[in-house]
Amino acid sequence: MTDATVAALRRDFPILQRRVNDCPLVYLDSAASAQMAEPVMAAIDDYRRHHHANVHRGAHTLSAEATERYEASRARVARFLGAPDPRGVVFTRNATEALNLIAHAYGRSRLQAGDEVLVSVAEHHANLVPWHLLAQDRGVVIKGVGLSADGRVDLDALEAAIGPRTKVVATFHVSNVLGYEQPLRRIADAAHAVGALFVVDGAQAAPHVAVDVVASGVDAYAFSGHKVGGPTGIGALWMRPDVLETLPPFLGGGEMIRRVEVDRSTYADIPMRFEAGTPAIAEAIGLAAALDYLEAIGLENIWAHDRALATQALAGLDALTGVETYGPRGDDRGGIVPFNVVGVHPHDVASFLDAEGIAVRAGHHCAQPLMKALGVASTARASFWLYTTRDEVDAFVAAVARVRDFFAGDAVSVATDAPRPGEALA
Ligand code: PMP
Repeated sequence: MTDATVAALRRDFPILQRRVNDCPLVYLDSAASAQMAEPVMAAIDDYRRHHHANVHRGAHTLSAEATERYEASRARVARFLGAPDPRGVVFTRNATEALNLIAHAYGRSRLQAGDEVLVSVAEHHANLVPWHLLAQDRGVVIKGVGLSADGRVDLDALEAAIGPRTKVVATFHVSNVLGYEQPLRRIADAAHAVGALFVVDGAQAAPHVAVDVVASGVDAYAFSGHKVGGPTGIGALWMRPDVLETLPPFLGGGEMIRRVEVDRSTYADIPMRFEAGTPAIAEAIGLAAALDYLEAIGLENIWAHDRALATQALAGLDALTGVETYGPRGDDRGGIVPFNVVGVHPHDVASFLDAEGIAVRAGHHCAQPLMKALGVASTARASFWLYTTRDEVDAFVAAVARVRDFFAGDAVSVATDAPRPGEALA
């Protein structure tokens, strides 16, 4: 995207006009939560002002309008993912809940003691802990694939680890730390060769790359609204409808039933079977508006912009002695740049940058096994999106140089391998 295009897009994001600590805000934390564009806020506002009511129950006009908008949002998510059948889309609170839903509903109904779930060491905790809960409950075995010399998940090792006991292969589409995109089709083919389910954590991919669940052979795909420029409190799970319709519910209550007696119940068809209780209606409508906004720009344009900014940032940081960066280099690398200033705790780095109005994240990024594999306890992380400018990246790199100079020889800041209580969540 040209500088003029990005400047025009920025006008859609009022928060970017803010000043923080007397400096213009430089928001480099979109991988944690992206900012929301005016049209998204307007869609939520319009629903709240003119159409709000509970869905699927009322015979009155407002309820019908709310239901129509909610179901249109489901169809919008399906189209965004390249899924032909909206019945495969379940609205959840976020990617975390979507992954828990699969681990619970699929894991507990299909897997037995000794069956294996294959993950990588680079997963977000949201794609590890639900499987750990399953392992504790059912004696399922979790196996983790490490990194290869090039810093990517070792796909040769992954293929070699897949065997007759492998029932699920669960991994990320784009890493929230390493920043690169995995080749889904290759992993899908390996998983399907033994009849395993291929589950993809798409939380960091959905805002940046075009997703086609059918072409890439995915069986289940999870993402969050707040990372694609939608609101918090909404996410989605897409699962192949022919698999989803064989699964038992995750949560029970209203909306998900067919018939209820005092002592038993039967369940609704998909997707309602997995949406117990009143859903996040305004948020689902906001999510659909966010997807409209992204597709109007073009995911391929966003990804190209991310890649160009990541290349610029990595070149700038790598030119600084005393600064380390992480993750593989290449065309598959998007706008996520983890780094450390040697000898300075990432929280100190983030605080220093915040004093200049620059927002970055610091911590283990909910990826402790990956931190271990990288040999660090935590990192700082800058992340870019469609509204990030080249000038902001330059300002960021210059500020990191000032952090390094400020702390040079300073014995107060602790080493980067010393974790602190309450490390930030990714
Ligand atoms: N997976 C990845 C790769 C993520 O980056 C995140 C968010 N940091 C999640 C899953 C979880 O997303 P949420 O907190 O919205 O459920």
